[in-house]
Amino acid sequence: PGSRNFPVPINPLALNPRTGGPKNLPIAELLLDDVNDEDVKKQKLVILGSGFAAISLAKTLDAGKYHVVLISPSNYFLFTPLLPSATVGTVEPRSIIEPVRKIVNRCLGHYLEASALGVELKDRLVEVVSYHEGKERRFYVPYDKLVISVGAQSNTHGVPGLENCYFLKTLPDAIRMRKRIMGNFEKACLPTTSPKERKKLLSFVVCGAGPTGVEFAAELHDMVKEDLVNFFPKLLRQHLSIHIIQSQDHILNTYDEKISKYAESKFVKEGIDLITNARVKEVQDDRVIYTQKQQNGQIIEKEVEAGAILWSTGLALTPLTHSIVSSIPEQRNKKAIETDSHLRVLGAPSGEVYAIGDCATVQNNISSRLVHLLQSINAADGEDSKVQLSFQQWRNLAERARRKFPQASVHLQRLDKLFLQYDKDNSGTLDMKELEALFNHIDRKLTSLPTTAQRGSQQGKYLGKKLNKLADAQINIDPTQFYDGDLDDTIYKPFDFHNLGSLAYLGDAAAYDSGTGTTFAGGLLAMYLWRSVYWSEQISFRTRCLLAVDWMKRSIWGRDLSKF
Ligand code: FAD
Repeated sequence: PGSRNFPVPINPLALNPRTGGPKNLPIAELLLDDVNDEDVKKQKLVILGSGFAAISLAKTLDAGKYHVVLISPSNYFLFTPLLPSATVGTVEPRSIIEPVRKIVNRCLGHYLEASALGVELKDRLVEVVSYHEGKERRFYVPYDKLVISVGAQSNTHGVPGLENCYFLKTLPDAIRMRKRIMGNFEKACLPTTSPKERKKLLSFVVCGAGPTGVEFAAELHDMVKEDLVNFFPKLLRQHLSIHIIQSQDHILNTYDEKISKYAESKFVKEGIDLITNARVKEVQDDRVIYTQKQQNGQIIEKEVEAGAILWSTGLALTPLTHSIVSSIPEQRNKKAIETDSHLRVLGAPSGEVYAIGDCATVQNNISSRLVHLLQSINAADGEDSKVQLSFQQWRNLAERARRKFPQASVHLQRLDKLFLQYDKDNSGTLDMKELEALFNHIDRKLTSLPTTAQRGSQQGKYLGKKLNKLADAQINIDPTQFYDGDLDDTIYKPFDFHNLGSLAYLGDAAAYDSGTGTTFAGGLLAMYLWRSVYWSEQISFRTRCLLAVDWMKRSIWGRDLSKF
């Protein structure tokens, strides 16, 4: 059913004439439609963000259990896995978005087109800013429960000149890139363009060979092969080049090695230039300067000319996440908001603040799990201080850990190297002290869960189900009955991530990595599998229909090559 079957709240939020909070800002109040006892008892639930995590939470919440307010600068949900397809017109931008209001309506919530600037934990207030018609307004939104799901932003790694790059995180990013690609092709055809300039215009450089960079390169190559060659002069083909710069020795290095190799050989066959073991030093408006490690260990500076540059080299904290992490002393992992296994923010008042999706990480417990495994394979016998672990035992342990915690398998692959690094006296065994140092390293460095849509959605759904139960419990349960006073733990299980594997589009081919050792990479069949998975994962029947039509249009008439 369409969401128009759900009733809408009558009143919008209103600004209270009373100001408050540390910054003395006006406070937004919920004007209840028809105040009754039930309404007064309901808690205010504020959700920050409108991405995978926030939207799967909003979809799972039962209507009317909370006074819900969802705050996000974008009033639509974006299906990011198809963003690379939108950069070349394989799908249209509006086919991969869904208006937030249609989703928030289902739980009778309010939506505010605004951004959260900070959280006052003591006063239970979110500081919010809205920009409309050039005017900035700041106010507080009060909460009883807060869910932070603001995602992450592109990591710049401090490289100078990134203002010359395109990013691929938002829909406007994809639209800008599509316009630039077509613009470069049109300019390359002008009689005023010299051959040298033409070559530069048609050189596309991708910095970062994770799934986003690789999928963009594959989509661009598809577009050239399937459409542009039919409509642009043949001469352009000789000048076209796609380069991928990667800091590691393989592309798609978070996937199984077999998939990396498959993707590499496919790209090499298609003439895509893979520049591995290279670090971007600087980006200029028409070139990327990088250093590359040679086989003899020597580091050489090189450059590649560029008509358009895509920057996709990982994630960093948003300003809001940064301010939260730095204001709570218990937050030790400075790369994301750390939560316990119930997704509650460490250091915030218990049961009031949750964090989910890319902005959050569940407190890493790989090392404690490793210790358990260690005990179970009897590697450690007797007194702790006498524990000795040989390299072979460590490998067995790592192998078991890889099978048991597939979500961490990529990180666990590095365990062999870590053993050697911590075997300070080169004895081939680790004593307890060395093991402790190694486990500390694992806890500090290895994040336990991937930053994917899959995880964000699972966390949103989990939290939605728990909040539904909490709303009932708050009314019906005697607080003295909670085990240790922990209501979350009493009424619901901790969050457990179920890894369904990762997919990557490789241009008329696709790859699947289950994370547990099963991999699949192939041509058309895999591509149709990739498409059908993303089709079924759509948030609404409406976007499913739009996507099906886009794919059909493309196969009949090709991509729309208009630049606007
Ligand atoms: P997001 O989806 O990024 O949403 C964050 C939301 O917070 C946005 O609505 C934003 O507007 C809002 N926001 C930001 N700041 C504030 C603020 N201060 N106040 C209020 N709201 C704010 N994952 C996969 O599993 N499979 C894939 O194939 C895949 N492909 C991808 C391709 C691309 C091009 C990209 C960019 C990502 C891809 N991902 C994929 C990763 C996936 O998109 C993210 O892991 C997922 O979006 C994380 O969900 P989230 O809700 O945490 O954050």
